[in-house]
Amino acid sequence: MQTWTATHQRMWIGGQWVDSVTGETVTVINPANGEVVGDVPKAGRKETAQAVDAAHQAFPAWSGLTAAERGAYLKKWAEEIRRNRESLARLLTMEQGKPLSEALEEVDAAADFSEWYGEEAKRVAGEALPGSKRDQRILVIRQPLGVAALITPWNYPATMVTRKMAAALAAGCTVVLKPASQTPLTAAFLMQLLEKTGLPTGVANLVTGNASEIGQALLDDPKVRKISFTGSTEVGKQLIEASARQVKRLSLELGGNAPLIVFSDADVDRAVAAAVGNKFENCGQMCNGINVIYVHEHLLDDFLQKLVERVGQLRVGFGWEPGTEIGPVIDESGIRKIDELVRDAVEKGAEILTGGRRLLEGPLARGTFYAPTVLAGVSFDMRITQEEIFGPVAPVVSFSDEEEIVKRVNDTPYGLAAYFFTKDIRRAFTVAEGLEFGMVAVNGTSLSVPQAPFGGIKESGQGREGGRYGMEEFLNIKYLSINL
Ligand code: ADP
Repeated sequence: MQTWTATHQRMWIGGQWVDSVTGETVTVINPANGEVVGDVPKAGRKETAQAVDAAHQAFPAWSGLTAAERGAYLKKWAEEIRRNRESLARLLTMEQGKPLSEALEEVDAAADFSEWYGEEAKRVAGEALPGSKRDQRILVIRQPLGVAALITPWNYPATMVTRKMAAALAAGCTVVLKPASQTPLTAAFLMQLLEKTGLPTGVANLVTGNASEIGQALLDDPKVRKISFTGSTEVGKQLIEASARQVKRLSLELGGNAPLIVFSDADVDRAVAAAVGNKFENCGQMCNGINVIYVHEHLLDDFLQKLVERVGQLRVGFGWEPGTEIGPVIDESGIRKIDELVRDAVEKGAEILTGGRRLLEGPLARGTFYAPTVLAGVSFDMRITQEEIFGPVAPVVSFSDEEEIVKRVNDTPYGLAAYFFTKDIRRAFTVAEGLEFGMVAVNGTSLSVPQAPFGGIKESGQGREGGRYGMEEFLNIKYLSINL
């Protein structure tokens, strides 16, 4: 029996832990059993303005520190996160649902991002260019752009915070964080750990509550020079439109429709292992997660048999119970979308090989659980091949023409991640170059690491997170022409 004491967390504004001006709160529900995990303030315009002001005031001193000084805080933050890894992971599982083993991995990755940017801070540099006249000197310098607003989603409540915030702080920006309303408690815990590093007042601020009101306040305030957002393509498009008024810089990590292509010469066992590992991570709720699997017809029977066997063995349950491999979907609307896409596919001729329904047996009935599912006989007229599933469903499409399949998977408005398996070096390069996606993994699926540029093209977004590319997002370039 799980025991959990509901917790009230406050916002962090100008170094103070505060409630909303109205005293209203947002309740955080455990998606696995419907119980209350805690609550956070329901803030709006006023509190957001205070947070932006605090960040604005803190900017000159913070950006004036040496890069090594700023980096030291981030390395300490990583240490604090690692020291609190168990309790942070437990909280993450309670509010988000993922298995504790995955929550621990996420917390470790969150610490890695902070440590990496703590080191990278020192490597932001400029350039000296040759002048066009004998007495001209040209310098290019990089400067932090000011106050950055960071809006994070619920699927990775820890790494999405540190991946954005560590890059921004390392660059010399000050920040206002607005986490998703489903998972604000992990964000509040991370801010408490950041406070322990002795970070100067107002450098990082946390606001929680009404997303559209907070979003509007951030957009309207000219002191906010950048918005870094991860979430739906729909909200991303609203932010693009609204940011035009003040020409604010944007980084957007939006939806995806990642293909996994298994070519005729692929190692089927490796491809199946990767498909299961990626597709069912975080209950399929990953923007760069595989959406649809395309298998060459010669391998189809072997692939399906192995896939169904593995998927049928996945243990669904409460994330805090040892051995759980798949937790709940985040909420009812998530379940509805999955159900709708599976029904549409079945009506158009797809076959359910395993799963294909919500789980309502015993204690699972209190949560939002969906059975790990494999669909065969899937075709391009089914919505499931065009829309992001965001759930534990693996649709499999069979193909024969290897050039045609690359064209077909490119025919989507999205362009975040793509995966394929082949042993042919020539195909590895030509297909990788031909896929219209921001990230391509060959013979594997691992993409999110601190040093690499994570991000998409087309309607999957703009800008990158991770690596030196992620830091560029928080820097302005200034060109100095000096005449002697
Ligand atoms: P998801 O499908 O991941 O829930 P959303 O785009 O709805 O994606 O949410 C991602 C993040 O954006 C969350 O922190 C959410 O609170 C925030 N958000 C939602 N609507 C808005 C908005 N209109 N303006 C700013 N932020 C928003």
